[in-house]
Formats: sequence, C-alpha cells, structure tokens
Amino acid sequence: MEEILPSIYRIEVPLPGSPLKATNSYVIKGAEQSLIVDTGWNREDCMEALVSGLKECGVDLQQADFFITHMHADHSGLVSTLAAEGARIYFGRVDADVIRSSTPEHWDKMIDFASKCGFPREELERAIGSHPGRRYSPDNSLTLYVLKDGDTISIGDYLFECIETPGHTAGHICLYEPAKKIFICGDHILFDITPNITLSSETQNPLKEYLVSLDKVYDLDVEFVLPGHRSIFGDQKERIRQLKKHHQTRLEEVISSLAKGKQNAFQIASQMTWDIVYKSWDSFPPAQKLFAFGEALAHLKYLEEEGQVEREIEAGGLVFFTRVSNA
Ligand SMILES: [Zn+2]
Repeated sequence: MEEILPSIYRIEVPLPGSPLKATNSYVIKGAEQSLIVDTGWNREDCMEALVSGLKECGVDLQQADFFITHMHADHSGLVSTLAAEGARIYFGRVDADVIRSSTPEHWDKMIDFASKCGFPREELERAIGSHPGRRYSPDNSLTLYVLKDGDTISIGDYLFECIETPGHTAGHICLYEPAKKIFICGDHILFDITPNITLSSETQNPLKEYLVSLDKVYDLDVEFVLPGHRSIFGDQKERIRQLKKHHQTRLEEVISSLAKGKQNAFQIASQMTWDIVYKSWDSFPPAQKLFAFGEALAHLKYLEEEGQVEREIEAGGLVFFTRVSNA
C-alpha cells in the first residue's frame, strides 16, 4: 500500500500467473465514506492482499463504496465479496448489463463463433477452461449503480467526474478530477503494456470506439494518470499518440497479410506482431492466443466497417476475410 496523493492510496493486488502481474486498486479515503476503485480477481489470494491493504489505509469496508472501471474479472471480481450491505457499486451501463445477464451460454456462443473463425477447437476449450472471466468473476446478483458521462462522486476534497470510455470494454468508465488534475483510467490507457481491444459482440466495432475514446480524453488537463495496471504516469497525451499509432500499424499488418488472399481470423492473428515473451505463435499458451485472436477480430471488424475488408461465410458457417480490391 502506498499513499500516492493526499488520501489516495494504491494497493497492488497480485494476479498470479497473469502477464498483467497485478491490478492497481485505488482507495480514496473520505471522512465517512471511502471509495475503492477496482478490486482484483474473486479468489482468496487477491482478497487477502486487498483486505490487508485496506486495513493499512484505515478503511472500513462497512463505509466503502466501489467504482468498477469495467467488468473484467481482474477489476470487478471481488466486489461481490467485499461490498457491505447498502454499499454503492458504480458501474458503466453496458458492462452492468453484461454482468447482470451473464450466463454459461455466453461461453458456448463465444466458442461457436471463435471456432467458425478458425480457432482450433481443442485449444479453444483449454483457453476457456483457464479463462479468468469464467473462474474469477463477481456474483451476478449484485445491485449496481450505473454512472454516465458527467455524473460526479464527491469524497473529501475531491470531486470526481465520470467519463465513459468504451473500447477496452463497451461499458468502460474513468474518473477525472479536474481541479486536482487526476485521471483514474482503468484499462483505457496503460503505459507499459497495450490495452487489449477485442471483439466480444458482432454488433460492436470496439477498435473504432476505442480510438474515439482516446481522442475524448486527449485534451484533459492531467498531472497524475492512475491506470489499472503497472506504473502511474504524469500525462496521457504522448501515450495516446503511441497507442493510436500502434493500432494504425496493426491495421496495416492485417491489410498486408490479406494481400496473400482469403484467410480466417486465426490465421491473421498468427501473423500479427505481439509484444509478448513467447518466441513463436505456436508457443503462445491458448489463453494468450485467444486474446490475440480477439484483437485480430477487432481490427478486421474495423477494416470491414471502413470498407477495406469483406467477410465471406462458407459452408458450415466458416468465416473468412478478404481484402476489398480497390481499397
Ligand atoms: Zn480489462
């Protein structure tokens, strides 16, 4: 636990086995009610780390509300275990709907779509079997308090504003304190790693939404960026420029892979450049292949909406992509 700003603490909640290493849980301590931003996975070791950090901060869970930047289990997992009766649990609208309506069929649908896009069935089942979203998510019977753009939360000397930043998830939200120039940004902007942008629903265009959400926060006057993982930073602008360039490069990679002809999303993913320790695509663990594959699909969807790529459905519903010839 460390106090990073007056009455704002960071507790690093370890994520054993994940390349993310830890989730940053931020605690804003108020005279009566405190606010806990993000929690770590719903499992014992995360809980112990968070509870002992909260004790060190002198925060009582009976007087704590929660702000969950997005529904991923490494951010939302422990909220159902820790929230006292009557605690407010702030969530973005779309992610709240996903949490409330989550059923085992969600995974079946995902398996079906991913295998039609070329993900080998056996590896897919292994990836899903170890997926933290399936194993460490919160209980879905929670009462959630939905926040939208411009809603505010006041604690002590701070007045935070909610900013909706769809992209990393469709209901991702951030907190901005304009007077103190603090930006708590979840997984919208990370500094040492690139936030995963993945296609989770056929009706969305998450990369497009993400790029719009990066522009949305670019001009904020910020001195302290508090992200969901790894290091705290001074300002978001340079990193936003890098992230936009990164996705532009990926889009170009996808287009140039498709110059070889029709391919499925799994084949495309295997040819993209990944910032990861494994030497070759074949040595990626199935879970990492699944993240990469989701990211490839998000880029393909973006290019499809831009009219540069077309989808072809073949016998058995198999999905392939081709480059539009005049693009
Ligand atoms: Zn996330």
